[in-house]
Amino acid sequence: MIEKPLSCKIEKSDVQLDYENIIIKYTDGYESEIKRMISIIHDEIGDIWDDIWTWDDVVGRFEKNHFLWLVLDKDSPIACSWFEKKSKEDLYIYNTYLVPELRGTGLTEKLFSIRNNLFYNSGFRKTLCVTDNIRAERALKKIGYKNDNWLDITYTFWSGGYDSTWLIYKLLLDGKKVQPIYIDDRVNHGGYHSNPLIKQRGEDTYPRRSTEIELKRQDWLRKEIYKRIPNSEELFLQTAIIDEPIQEDDDVSQLVKKYNEWIPEPIYKDKDGEPHWLEVQADLLARFQRQFGIEIHLSHENVSYGEVWEIMDDYLEDGKLMIDKLPNELKEWEVFSGFNHALRGTNKYKMLEEAKELGFDELLYYTWTCWYPIGDKPCNKCKMCKERIIECRSLGDTT
Ligand SMILES: [Zn+2]
Repeated sequence: MIEKPLSCKIEKSDVQLDYENIIIKYTDGYESEIKRMISIIHDEIGDIWDDIWTWDDVVGRFEKNHFLWLVLDKDSPIACSWFEKKSKEDLYIYNTYLVPELRGTGLTEKLFSIRNNLFYNSGFRKTLCVTDNIRAERALKKIGYKNDNWLDITYTFWSGGYDSTWLIYKLLLDGKKVQPIYIDDRVNHGGYHSNPLIKQRGEDTYPRRSTEIELKRQDWLRKEIYKRIPNSEELFLQTAIIDEPIQEDDDVSQLVKKYNEWIPEPIYKDKDGEPHWLEVQADLLARFQRQFGIEIHLSHENVSYGEVWEIMDDYLEDGKLMIDKLPNELKEWEVFSGFNHALRGTNKYKMLEEAKELGFDELLYYTWTCWYPIGDKPCNKCKMCKERIIECRSLGDTT
């Protein structure tokens, strides 16, 4: 899954509990209690997680000025968290643990309130954390954490194609920390795909047949990017592959239904008045973004025409859909408001020119576009192939 940065304001409270609350900064004093905590954690999750902190980590962390909050119930440890001071007011928190028998008892919140009082009194005002676990995220949100993306990560979908690779390269050149996301659509993600209308139209063309080639291209492109952009190994985070079904979303389903039922006539028409279905991606990506809860950059360049896109462009500002300005009949478009439509102001030709100026146009020839390859070659017939403006070179040419 994807690591998400969350933060929570530290507020004072008057909660009292009959436990010993301590902040430990050095190894001496509480060695046996810390070792006991480590062994409790190992006993519970040691067989599913082989990266639990050890006594050596404790020593190393104290040397880096991290500190440990430990709660003791009659000398026996029941909860802990590790902390690193990030700034005068911000504390990064990690490896939080609470013994199983106390979870879900309402005690968690109280313990954190007491912990926060300790920090508040030391001048801290915000705790920061990162989680990739959806259950942990839900629990954190219950006690006041929010998705504020304090790590300032730019999340974006990456297929290894022309547009998404171009966008990622540009973001990395601009010094952004980039988290690429790839949706594996060999998994049944429901939504649009489960709509019987799709099959009735003979449009049951999913999954795409390009997944393996796309993943291979991504690996190759990533290595090339590392060679070309000096600090990119640090900025370009490992791709998050979404291979768990994306959750259903009534608002998105309603919109897809409205645009795809064609009753009494199709709503989505291109500039020649030709009717179109709403794209499968509109459903899949919107549902994913809403489930994810943080803005995601989309790399739709300005090649798609038609009423829908024109309306969309009218209400975009800096890539964001201005929901407040949408007329009432289009309010349902709010489902797309979590995206940054970063490439709507440009197109593939302009992008190629800019890549030439910045010296990465050659890479674009090795991006992969086709959804229905024949062997390891593009079909040159599908919609995606038709939109491509440069040849697709074989990776064999590079060795
Ligand atoms: Zn094709």
